[in-house]
Amino acid sequence: MIEISGLTKSYGSTTVLDGIDLTVADAQIGAVVGPSGAGKSTLARTINLLERPTSGTIAVNGRDLTALSGSELRAARREIGTVFQSANLLRRLTAAENVALPLRHHGVPDNQVRRRVHELLERVGMLHRANHYPSQLSGGQRQRIGIARGLALKPSVLLSDEATSGLDPDTTLSILTLLRELRDDLGVTILVITHEMDVVRGIADQVARLDHGRIVERGAVADVVRGSDSDLSRALLPLPP
Ligand code: ATP
Ligand code: MG
Repeated sequence: MIEISGLTKSYGSTTVLDGIDLTVADAQIGAVVGPSGAGKSTLARTINLLERPTSGTIAVNGRDLTALSGSELRAARREIGTVFQSANLLRRLTAAENVALPLRHHGVPDNQVRRRVHELLERVGMLHRANHYPSQLSGGQRQRIGIARGLALKPSVLLSDEATSGLDPDTTLSILTLLRELRDDLGVTILVITHEMDVVRGIADQVARLDHGRIVERGAVADVVRGSDSDLSRALLPLPP
């Protein structure tokens, strides 16, 4: 479970996030949707503590991460895995090596790294691409590797910032289906941050609409995200809720 309370982020005199309250319950998928410049990526970077909030708290499973520092903070950050737009893979590393990075960074022994990478690649359906470099993968495959890397340290929360933008509707659908499986099979709590309403419709249990750094509306997806008629939403509709 992730509970964000009174989260504010300012750069100098510019307030980019202004008093965000947001909760995603265990094994649920929450979404934040908003237009370009609303503060979505800032929210993602602040939640995973890549950047320090100006004020407010971010609690994972009841523990406030903003109260921590040093090695405690580094350890606690493992609770939040992140998937970025276009996956952010390192070009000179293979898919498997990219997935292994967070494990090596945290000093996991080699034999365990190998086992865990195998397990993760299998989980995201990418075992057959383990030794490919990012340039040899499709956009959707890169995102799968990015998701595997985000899960490497067994986080309880997975944060996705525009993980499907730039992908075609079928590929988007396959990534959303994978995220749903992670929620259902592993019980991961997921926060999807996106500008695409169709993505929200396709996947989220709850949604909050972000505009100019504030949550301006929130609720069940059907209430917040009204009618859409795109190819993607048509493709998504037949899926079970
Ligand atoms: P997009 O959909 O285009 O990715 P976004 O919702 O992710 O947009 P952010 O990247 O969070 O938007 O940016 C929100 C606002 O915060 C923008 O006006 C941006 O200029 C400002 N901003 C972001 N990072 C900084 C920074 N380091 N210093 C100053 N202003 C910043
Ligand atoms: Mg952004």
